Amino acid sequence: MIDGRAREIDHLRLSLIDHCNLACRYCVPEGARPSRQMIDASFAFELVRWLSRYHGVRHVRLTGGEPLLYPDLIPLVRRLASLAQLNEVTLTTNGQALTQKATALCEAGLSRINVSLDTLNPDRFAHVTRGGRVEHTLRGIEATIKAGLTPVKLNMVVQRGLNDDEIVDAARWGLELGCVVRFLEVMPIGPLAHVIDDHLVPASEILDKLSEAYRLVPIPQSPGQPAVDYAATSGTSRGVIGIIAPTTRPFCERCRRIRITSHGAMVVCVHDSRCLDLADCWDGRRLDEHRANEVLKTAIMDKPAQGSRSQSLTMIALGG
Ligand code: SAM
Repeated sequence: MIDGRAREIDHLRLSLIDHCNLACRYCVPEGARPSRQMIDASFAFELVRWLSRYHGVRHVRLTGGEPLLYPDLIPLVRRLASLAQLNEVTLTTNGQALTQKATALCEAGLSRINVSLDTLNPDRFAHVTRGGRVEHTLRGIEATIKAGLTPVKLNMVVQRGLNDDEIVDAARWGLELGCVVRFLEVMPIGPLAHVIDDHLVPASEILDKLSEAYRLVPIPQSPGQPAVDYAATSGTSRGVIGIIAPTTRPFCERCRRIRITSHGAMVVCVHDSRCLDLADCWDGRRLDEHRANEVLKTAIMDKPAQGSRSQSLTMIALGG
């Protein structure tokens, strides 16, 4: 599928549920009450089947809200993993419930897991997530590795004054376990766009800190990969470290992604509030592919060259 600016689109982020068991301060506004909207599992499956069969989608990432809270997750992963045209089905999670689900996800055919882990410190974790328990996520990561769903990718959103003194420790901890460790800039999204004013740590600074501890050799990027990865070495600590810089080095010209929210709306750019409704194309049993094709065509032709920073939705509603 080629968009209106000649970019190939082959990645889908599918939000299964807009509810989360954490409420990270840069993701969920104070007092926000998500609607607990879940996408119907058959609708989700039919959307992916249609996009992979007719429109070249090859990579699907399940997200939310918190996808591990989605009741039909394991059967849905099993069905998606059976789609011949998909190269991978991956999932992004806060890991709080991973211990219970890792083996089942692996057996269902999930390709890989990204775990969001902003700090290793229990008090900081509880503060950033408004009440989460870091030990649950750490045990979940270990369970995932034990289940053989490797390499686990750890994602740390670096925030000034909150966790920017933990960059090297997080890299060391994750590499020791054989994880790929990725550091992300915080993004200005929706009502929380102002958080970057206080908390943005630019990728250049993250890289400087890592370079003091590690020898970093860039690894060529694959198409659609937002992270710049490095082979990292420091004594016996070695592995892959990635940096994702959507705020200071946006990768819009290489963006190959579309999103579908848990409300069944298509979003073609995380920074643009335009949504196109696909829910109207679903009657509870069948996807009206003809109508869905029309929606997709309009959405893809309008995918902006660059994010205009006009997004009104929060990340938790969009599907991060
Ligand atoms: N609950 C799951 C999780 O925690 O990974 C999936 C949904 S969450 C919205 C997906 C990712 O978006 C997380 O890694 C989170 O850190 C990231 N995220 C949310 N808001 C962000 C922001 N303003 N800037 C950068 N990353 C953000």
